Amino acid sequence: MRAVLSTGSNMEDSRAHLRSVVEEFSGELVAASDLYTTAPWGGVEQDDFLNQVLIVDVDESPGELLRRCQGLEQAARRVRAKRWGPRTLDVDIVDIEGVECDSGELTVPHPRAHLRAFVLVPWLEVDPGARLGGVSVREIAAGLGDQGVRRL
Ligand code: ATP
Ligand code: CA
Ligand code: CA
Repeated sequence: MRAVLSTGSNMEDSRAHLRSVVEEFSGELVAASDLYTTAPWGGVEQDDFLNQVLIVDVDESPGELLRRCQGLEQAARRVRAKRWGPRTLDVDIVDIEGVECDSGELTVPHPRAHLRAFVLVPWLEVDPGARLGGVSVREIAAGLGDQGVRRL
């Protein structure tokens, strides 16, 4: 099962937090984007983020993949204080090939991915032909304009 993951951090050693995800999936990694510095999305004033997109090929169910992502957030001592606020590590499932689900616990494709240049721009770097909900990611990203996403 091929999945697209988006990782982000703006607390502590963000590079190390993102690296922990790459290491967790090292045996299943298809591609990893460069790191991007990105302006915060969602209106909370806070430090810029580091973001990355990973494409992984895993031998598990979507629910198991979500739990693995959440385990990485817990290992980074993620605290949920404020929606879209600062975090040590966020690991989201953006898309899973051939899967659509909306269980409350897991919605795939991620319902806000199409609004976020910090997800779409790194994704395009590793998969220029990417599609989200049947639509070209390049076209969706072009419609978002400049959200302050810079490749490092
Ligand atoms: P956003 O979802 O807007 O990116 P967030 O990442 O800050 O915000 P979290 O607090 O990390 O939100 O996650 C809230 C819940 O979202 C999680 O407990 C998880 O069950 C659920 N969730 C639903 N769909 C997904 C998905 N595709 N990837 C990750 N979590 C998801
Ligand atoms: Ca998120
Ligand atoms: Ca999340």
